[in-house]
Amino acid sequence: PFNHAHKVSKFCYADKDLIHKAIAASVAARREWDLKPVQDRAAVLFKAADVISGPKRGEVLAKTMIGQQGKTVIQAEIDAAAELIDFFRFNAKHAVELEAAQPMDVEGSTNTAIYRGLEGFVAAVSPFNFTAIGGNLAATPAGNVVLWKPSDTAMSASYAVYRILRECGLPPNIIQFLPADGPVFGDAVTSSEHLAGINFTGSVTFKHLWKQVAHNLDMYKTFPRLAGCGGKNFHFVHKSANVRSVVNGTVRSAFEYGGQKCSACSRMYVPAGLWPDVKQQLLDAVKQIRVGDPVEDLGAFFSAVIDDKSFSRIKKYLDDAKSSPELEVIAGGNCDDSKGYFVEPTIITTKDPQHPIMAQEIFGPVLSVYVYPDDDYKDVLSLVDRTSPYALTGAVFALDSVVDEASKILRNAAGNFYINDKSTGSVVAQQPFGGARASTNDKPGGPHYVLRWTSPQVVKETHVPLTQWKYPYMA
Ligand code: NAD
Repeated sequence: PFNHAHKVSKFCYADKDLIHKAIAASVAARREWDLKPVQDRAAVLFKAADVISGPKRGEVLAKTMIGQQGKTVIQAEIDAAAELIDFFRFNAKHAVELEAAQPMDVEGSTNTAIYRGLEGFVAAVSPFNFTAIGGNLAATPAGNVVLWKPSDTAMSASYAVYRILRECGLPPNIIQFLPADGPVFGDAVTSSEHLAGINFTGSVTFKHLWKQVAHNLDMYKTFPRLAGCGGKNFHFVHKSANVRSVVNGTVRSAFEYGGQKCSACSRMYVPAGLWPDVKQQLLDAVKQIRVGDPVEDLGAFFSAVIDDKSFSRIKKYLDDAKSSPELEVIAGGNCDDSKGYFVEPTIITTKDPQHPIMAQEIFGPVLSVYVYPDDDYKDVLSLVDRTSPYALTGAVFALDSVVDEASKILRNAAGNFYINDKSTGSVVAQQPFGGARASTNDKPGGPHYVLRWTSPQVVKETHVPLTQWKYPYMA
């Protein structure tokens, strides 16, 4: 069916034995790579960024559209060009700058921090939804050695990125590209004594991997670093909000890339006084959204959802919504997989603000709305805070005095917090990204991210002989 899956060439999966061979090759390559000056390692990423922003831009972008990811040209440009290039450049810059952070010296001795890679290999397990995230998960820890398991449904663009890194001077076995069945890969890497980190996105599978690591903890040479992330992101609207901003921000956040961004708005809280206006404008906007083939129809706003599994999951939410007395589908609600995994942009209102549809990650073009009495907004802010296990992104639309109150109540409800702006669209180096609670909040795109993937060694060197062992007051 649609999604151009038929155009993606068949690929082979690495089995358990091959994954263990790859681990051995990684570990063998590690020492020399780790000893290279950071500038040399960074040079690979700087060069790859130049190549992707120049001669290979079209290729990576096109593969993000026609590979199964199915992004529109605008979404592919944001991802496969802009964000990926920025990740490579800023991660390299931050890694080089890290060397400048040194401890103080005192008379007679000097202190030096050496930013070593992790002792072992990093397993980078990437999601389907961002070509840039695949590149970032694999190449950020490039002071390390990495086994990169791409998503089955982002294979084409991920492989192009891997090839570019190799062509830009990445030596063999530093990053190994290993398509594999998820659980086979997870079982193999977590059963190796050399596992030093898992760089993941997503939270359900991540919990499973964390438990596997905990189970095998006594086996590892070093405590593995674990990074993972998921979200059920909110837009909170106060009666002082600008309705046009609310509607435009929400339509983009909830429906761009079919709601398949981890930061997509999927629950919204609107005061009753504004609801008629917000509702009407949302419905008008949704009517104009074209869902279609991103290659044949450059005006399509989004295309099919990623695969049959995702389609079935979203369909179940829509079917439940149609039969639930608490929920009302006010826009969309239909899906059709005859030509591809198409789901209409859908808006559902709920009478119950704690309904699962307000708490669970759906990862599709489905926006749920709770309409509240205008003056109850403080209670509703607390409700926003406690409704979902996630705390990734969130937005408040309101005037300043309410923003202050909301920021305090929602202090722990989002790792990326937006004021009068949509919950999506974080830019590398401008809004380092990550949530708390059901995410590990590692902030890729920021200066501290590279530190997560290093294991600093501090060296004290004394320049005067140690002449005595007694304290001066001792007889
Ligand atoms: P997913 O959890 O289904 O799959 C992610 C990866 O895990 C895939 O490569 C898959 O093959 C692999 N996998 C599955 N089972 C495994 C196992 N047992 N061991 C090891 N690997 C296994 O996620 P997805 O549908 O590809 O992506 C969506 C998820 O990613 C959402 O939860 C979303 O919030 C999250 N995400 C988060 C961020 C972020 O916070 N930065 C960015 C993008 C996506």
